[in-house]
Amino acid sequence: MTGVADLLRADLRGRTAYGAPQLDVPVRLNTNESSYSVPQEVVDDVAAAMAKAVPDLNRYPDREATDLRTALAAYLSRSGTAVTPEQVWAANGSNEVILHLLQAFGGPGRTALGFTPAYSMHPIITRTTGTAWVDGHRGEASGPFDLSAGRAARTVEEHRPDVVFLCSPNNPTGTALGLDVVLAVHDAAPDALVVVDEAYAEFARPGTPSALTLLEGRERLVVTRTMSKAFALAGGRLGYLAADPQVADALRLVRMPYHLSTPSQVVALVALRHTDLLLGTVEAIKAQRDRIVDTLPRLGAEAGARGRLEPVPSDANFVLFGGLADAHVTWQALLDRGVLIRDVGIPHYLRVTAGTPEETTAFLDALAELVPAHL
Ligand code: PMP
Repeated sequence: MTGVADLLRADLRGRTAYGAPQLDVPVRLNTNESSYSVPQEVVDDVAAAMAKAVPDLNRYPDREATDLRTALAAYLSRSGTAVTPEQVWAANGSNEVILHLLQAFGGPGRTALGFTPAYSMHPIITRTTGTAWVDGHRGEASGPFDLSAGRAARTVEEHRPDVVFLCSPNNPTGTALGLDVVLAVHDAAPDALVVVDEAYAEFARPGTPSALTLLEGRERLVVTRTMSKAFALAGGRLGYLAADPQVADALRLVRMPYHLSTPSQVVALVALRHTDLLLGTVEAIKAQRDRIVDTLPRLGAEAGARGRLEPVPSDANFVLFGGLADAHVTWQALLDRGVLIRDVGIPHYLRVTAGTPEETTAFLDALAELVPAHL
């Protein structure tokens, strides 16, 4: 008899699943969620909207999620770039949006390319669709995680991928890409769909333009967003994209019918009606992020430490920092102190989400106890 292990697709054998630890500890700063719970006003409105919607759960949801896509288009248009509902696609988290893109534009015999370290799910979702993954790698003389327009363009020219992922602000490094990089990749890869993953766009430092501003006249350009981060709605599972309407049409070919449940649509619609309230914590989170960036290099300085912690400039709700002797040992020592952050697998680096002021203090205090011994 053939065992399950042998039945599994050969290209999936030996692969490890995405598995950020979900641990019940006092300070959870490991998955770039918002630490702020949903405000009572929004809770009440969701409850009222759900009470109205539930009797109709005998019916399938609006397959086109028309009201939701209209609200998402209106939200994106606040940026100054007009976006129509026809340009918007929504799914269960931007992970599913990315899956739809790869199902439609990747697949066996096709290639997707990204520049790592970047979002770890880009290669994982790529491979689940039978698409080959090519790693362009980040790193320039200017910095270990930088990506210049020139090198990015040369990389896509060399590999001629069908799909290119650019992550800006980049997870796990935090820094946004200049639009020159997006344009260079777009122009150097005339046969590719270029996907700019902007999950953290709302946290960008001033003067960081979104790739939304480049959409007009570029039908191969896609910008993905999510309500999981700035909207504090990770549990709602609502991601979306803006692109040429032809991209959304292509995704209709691969999505499951009624993929966005009525509760998902209701929750997201109510949240979007409270956009200003929900985004009200963004500035507070950015302040804690900047506090982490400012504080880390000073930790251990008084103790006369040999090395020092090196935070990477961040446009997101998290900070990647280097300078650790053994990142995993430090990760465990912080966990032992009740602070869960993320070991993203980059030697000497860890990533921490900017939480509430109290959580950030707990993280910085715990780390201060470990420095300089951990440098
Ligand atoms: N893109 C990036 C860069 C992310 O960091 C994440 C979540 N960590 C996602 C996409 C997926 O988010 P979601 O599926 O919750 O929208």
